[in-house]
Amino acid sequence: MAMPELHPARFWDTASGTSVRCRLCPQQCEVPDGGSGRCGARANRGGRLWSRVYGNVVALHMDPVEKKPLYHFLPGTPILSAGTVGCNLRCLFCQNWSLSRAEELDAPGVDAPVRRFVSPKSLVDAAAAANCPSIAFTYNEPTIQAEYVMDVAAEAHAAGLRTVMVTNGYITRTVIDEVYRDIDAANVDLKAFDDGFYRSECEGSLGPVLATLEALVARGVWIEVTTLLIPGLNDSPEAMRAEATWIRDHLGPDVPLHLSAFHPDHRMLDRPPTSPATIRACRDAAREAGLRYVYEGNLDTDARDTHCPSCNAAVVRRTWGSVRDTAIRDGRCEHCGTAIAGVWS
Ligand code: SF4
Repeated sequence: MAMPELHPARFWDTASGTSVRCRLCPQQCEVPDGGSGRCGARANRGGRLWSRVYGNVVALHMDPVEKKPLYHFLPGTPILSAGTVGCNLRCLFCQNWSLSRAEELDAPGVDAPVRRFVSPKSLVDAAAAANCPSIAFTYNEPTIQAEYVMDVAAEAHAAGLRTVMVTNGYITRTVIDEVYRDIDAANVDLKAFDDGFYRSECEGSLGPVLATLEALVARGVWIEVTTLLIPGLNDSPEAMRAEATWIRDHLGPDVPLHLSAFHPDHRMLDRPPTSPATIRACRDAAREAGLRYVYEGNLDTDARDTHCPSCNAAVVRRTWGSVRDTAIRDGRCEHCGTAIAGVWS
């Protein structure tokens, strides 16, 4: 990976001598002078921590907001989506590893992704020019480019645009209020409701992700949760019941849950794709646990529509990544008047 321009990082302090400690995420990397943190995005040069990815946009697309996935946030609108490289977890099953594995892109013979510098104002101007009401930080883990996220989000709010994080939720609890100051919504990956899974499959831990979810709800950030169901690892209805019960009790029954089908990728090529029957059994378990909005993703399914929790009418009907029609007015079901949780305008 060619060295991009360095930008001063925040959320660090001196560890010892010229080593620094990054405080941005629970990895809490000690980074020696000349080295990088495990995400590959933050480097120590001369005893100071720098961002290697500030404004270095590798992927930039206008997507339907449903593809994030966010189903209860400005449905049917386009969202300008930007990402760079690197991640602070190392999931063996990563479904987007060409962007997440920054250090593997340093390997000889691997083509580095094309980068371009996009200033915060340029990104916001591009979203406004394309009539996107919101901007997403996505594709790789946006936490590790917190300085860019914060600057873009502030510009976006000044311009009347909304902002979205698509994140693994692996961020230090004490920095959440600063990093999410101008963030309106997030889709948070809850990879499994199992600390052992996080440790063996992701080189992380479960507790900080749960703490992030609770903190975002407390801040008033609209959140939706995604769990990728991997055959034999986290796809039992019992595990899903435990996860859904925690979501119901700690985040509320109105938080949408997206159950997504795995396909073999990266370093997990020995497991089959998730079957539709498994996804359906987990969806049933989550609904039985009390969650009102549970969706299926990454497969052909009829479980993409939003139903009113009172009269069961379909209030948002969707196809792959788009909205067919809605029956929500002023945040309420047009048929019976029940409030439907979400950000609808
Ligand atoms: S953000 Fe990167 S450098 Fe900082 S603690 Fe996390 S993995 Fe380490």
